[in-house]
Amino acid sequence: MDAREKALHQAYHHALRWLADLPERPVPARASVEEIVRALGAELPDRPTPPADVVDLLASACDPGLTAFPSGRFYGFVVGGTEPAALATDWLVSAWDQNCVMRAVSPAYTAAEDIAGAWLLDLLGLPSDSAVGFTTGATMANFTCLAAARDAVLGRAGWDVARDGLVGGPAPRVIVGADRHMAIDLALRYLGLGEPETVAADDQGRIVPEALRHALATGGRRPGIVVLQAGDIHSGAFDPFTETIRAARDAQAWVHVDGAFGLWAAASPGYAHLTVGCSDADSWATDAHKTLNVPYDCGLAIVRDATALRAAMGLHGAYLIQAEHGDPIDKVPELSRRGRAFTVWAALRSLGRSGVADLVERLCRHACAFATGIADIDGATVLNDVVFTQVCARFGDDARTQRVIDRLLDEGTAWISGSSWHGRRVMRISVSNWSTNDDDVARALGAIRRAAVTTT
Ligand SMILES: *Cc1c(COP(=O)(O)O)cnc(C)c1O
Repeated sequence: MDAREKALHQAYHHALRWLADLPERPVPARASVEEIVRALGAELPDRPTPPADVVDLLASACDPGLTAFPSGRFYGFVVGGTEPAALATDWLVSAWDQNCVMRAVSPAYTAAEDIAGAWLLDLLGLPSDSAVGFTTGATMANFTCLAAARDAVLGRAGWDVARDGLVGGPAPRVIVGADRHMAIDLALRYLGLGEPETVAADDQGRIVPEALRHALATGGRRPGIVVLQAGDIHSGAFDPFTETIRAARDAQAWVHVDGAFGLWAAASPGYAHLTVGCSDADSWATDAHKTLNVPYDCGLAIVRDATALRAAMGLHGAYLIQAEHGDPIDKVPELSRRGRAFTVWAALRSLGRSGVADLVERLCRHACAFATGIADIDGATVLNDVVFTQVCARFGDDARTQRVIDRLLDEGTAWISGSSWHGRRVMRISVSNWSTNDDDVARALGAIRRAAVTTT
C-alpha cells in the first residue's frame, strides 16, 4: 500500500468503528474543547507526518469530543443523519474532487445535478421547470431565493439592482410571520434588505392570513416579498399556503417558502396535505442534510422563474465556458464548490419514491410516539399539536424544565435541545434521523422519564 492508500484504509476503518459504536456510545460529547486541543497538540510540526498517522491521530484525539449527531437518539435542533448511499457517495465525491461550476467541464456532475433536481421537483410537488440550485444549507438557499426575489420585484418596479445597486432605489417590503426561522433575518441582512415587517402568528407559529392581508393592504404599493414557512422548528406547523399565497398574489408580491425540513411532507401521501397550496409560491428553500439525511453540507434553492435566479446568481467571466442551458454556477452564490448533487442523487436513487415517503412517515410516527410517551409522565405537558416531526414539552415551570433537560444530557442516552417557545422554557424534540427506530424512541423516553422523576 502507498501512503495515500494507507490513509484511506485507516479512514475507512475509523469511520466503520464510529458508525458501529453509535447505538451504544453516549450521545453527548464527553470532552471539552481544551481537552481535544491538548490531545491533538496545538504546535504546528516542523516536519511532515505520514498521512495515515495523521488520520489515526485525528480519530483517536477527537473521539471523546464528538457528539453522536448521526445516532438514532439525537433529537436536538433539526439535523439529519447520513443515509448509507449518501455517505458512501460523499467519500467518492471527495476522491473525485470535481469542480462543479460548469456544465461542460464535469458532464458527470451536471448529469447528476440535472437528474436529482428533476426528481426533487417531482417528489416535492413543485413546478417541473423550476431551477434547482445546490447550496451549503437552507440559510444560503433562503438567501439565494430571496436574492432572485429582491432583484425580480425591484426589476418590475423599474429598478435594476445588478447595475445600480440598492442605494437610491425603491425599498422593497419584506413581510414575514412572527415565528419564522432566524435564518430568514440573516439572509435579508446579507441582501441589504434590513429587518422585515412581521405579522402575527397563531399559537402554533402559523402566520395569520387576515393579518397578512391587512399588512399587505396598508403600507403603500412598494415592491413586496412575503416569506412563508413549511415546518415551524418548535411545533412543526405549516403556514396556511392557499389563503396566504392568494393574499400575496393580490398584492403582486413574490412569495418565498422556507421549508428547510417541512417541504419534504409533500413527498409523503400521509403528510402532503400539510403543503397544500405551497407549490403556488415563487421560490422554496429546503435542506437535503435534514430530512433527506445526506451528509453536510447540502441545501436546495428552488426558483420557479429560472431566468430570475440566473439573473441574480449567474456569472459571466470571459474565461468560463458558457453553456446554452445555463451552468450549475448560475443557480448558487459560490463559484468553486464540491459535488453536492451526487449525494442527493444517491440518497434518492437508493430510497426511491416509496423510500422517501416511508422516511418522512417514520420520522412523524416517532414524533407521535414521543408525544404520547411524554404525556404519560407525571407533571409533563406536550405543548404543540404534533403534526410533523417536532415535539415541545414542559415539565412544570421553566426552572424544572431546564433541570430535566440538563439531567437528560448528563445521563447521555439521548440528546435533546432546550429552547424557549412563546416566552416559556421547553424541551424540544426533533425526529430527523433516518436510522431512529422504535427501540431508540423507547430508550430515549425511558431516559426522559428517569430525568423527570428524579428532578424536583
Ligand atoms: C435549519 C433551518 C434553517 C437553516 O438551515 P441551515 O441548513 O442550518 O442553514 C432555516 N429554516 C428552518 C425552518 C430550519 O429548520
